[in-house]
Amino acid sequence: MKLELKDLNTPVPNTWCPGCGNFGILTAVKQAIVELVNEGFAEKRQFTLVSGIGCHAKIYDYININGFYSIHGRVLPTALGIKVSNPELIVLGFGGDGDTYAEGVAHFVHACRYNVDITMIAHNNQVFALTTGQATPTTERGFKGKSTPLGTFEQPLNPIALAIVSGATFVAREFALDVQHLKETVKAAVKHKGFAFIDVLQPCVSYHNMAEFVRTHAYRLEDVGHNPRDYSEALKKALEWDYEYKEDARIPLGIFYITERETYESVWPATRPFYKVRREPDIEKILAKHYVSP
Ligand code: SF4
Repeated sequence: MKLELKDLNTPVPNTWCPGCGNFGILTAVKQAIVELVNEGFAEKRQFTLVSGIGCHAKIYDYININGFYSIHGRVLPTALGIKVSNPELIVLGFGGDGDTYAEGVAHFVHACRYNVDITMIAHNNQVFALTTGQATPTTERGFKGKSTPLGTFEQPLNPIALAIVSGATFVAREFALDVQHLKETVKAAVKHKGFAFIDVLQPCVSYHNMAEFVRTHAYRLEDVGHNPRDYSEALKKALEWDYEYKEDARIPLGIFYITERETYESVWPATRPFYKVRREPDIEKILAKHYVSP
């Protein structure tokens, strides 16, 4: 029986602001799961979602698959733990830009380095939205928010470049309002064996609406003949936009980089037998060793 989009609906009322870019991500991910299941790539029961904390995290409530609502900045260690415990699962991590690139940035770097076979989707609206508009590591200079009334003055972090140099084996940037391309990239990321990362520019209509800027300045990498297997070219393209809002900005969208190497769970010795072995500790023996009666 074919999976339908409505099979992924939940009864939870959606509380995102009308027009929020998160709706585009939700639609694209649901479409990708439906197509991957119907094409025979995986079964619905294999898909597992991990979210962080922030507006993005409500996606946990809106997709009817297994999941874990984790804590701020800790999506990736949670997702990694799930994957090594049961490598048959397809683990999708969702984080905000504050979540992933501020508190979670160390986990991000090491997940890229480890090359664990999961997909990480960052809802990058360049603002802390749930807490009503503070600057994050990807906010452009000059942005005036609740924590920066005089304007943000720090240079933004470039997560695409960071992912490539940290060892991620699939690196892409998409736009939340371009659902068709986003869906295709999510499917490619899930099919990729290794750490797949997608930075999704997600307009926050309430605190940081970059929709018009992205529409005006974006172009597709595949339209200019970009070769995602070329590391130097990928890095060059990654550095083309610095997440600032300049008049001459050019924002590449699509897949920057793809390569293959051993995945974390395939080489970490403990994962091979661990997830299939039921451990039955000898409690009496442990107590006898550690318990000293008064
Ligand atoms: Fe979306 Fe921004 Fe509203 Fe959060 S505050 S739901 S990110 S529009």
